[in-house]
Amino acid sequence: MKVYKVERRAEKGGPVGVIATVNGQPLIHIVHHSPTGFEFGYGGSGPADLALSILANYFGEEPSEKALYHGRCKCWKPHQDFKWRFIAPQQGNSFEITEDTISSWIVETKQELVETVVCDGCGEVMLTDEVEKITNAHGTATMCFECCEELAVK
Ligand SMILES: [Zn+2]
Repeated sequence: MKVYKVERRAEKGGPVGVIATVNGQPLIHIVHHSPTGFEFGYGGSGPADLALSILANYFGEEPSEKALYHGRCKCWKPHQDFKWRFIAPQQGNSFEITEDTISSWIVETKQELVETVVCDGCGEVMLTDEVEKITNAHGTATMCFECCEELAVK
């Protein structure tokens, strides 16, 4: 099971920073609200990015800026609720969240999770209502509306 560990610690001779890991490996920072890094203990942008990054890892996603902008990832919708429940209230210098805790929370709070699919044309992650199934002489493909239009012009 995945365990997310978050710690506030001082780098040798450097500033104090918040480090997040998943089973001991550095958690990838999904940068949206806070380019300067993670935070916790309040409801700001550093905590929001921590929430987003934990959920992205939980869902196995690594959304691009464009995907986040369009909400084309499961982590986007619940991340503010998650922040207020698990990140903002944390006092002290470290805490842990397990995969099971996240799963239970998603069920209990009835989080609505979007379904995503990868467009066969451009390779971008899309919502399932942003694609069409196309069948032609070459077979069947799932394409976003933009790629469908391009195909129609050719
Ligand atoms: Zn496409």
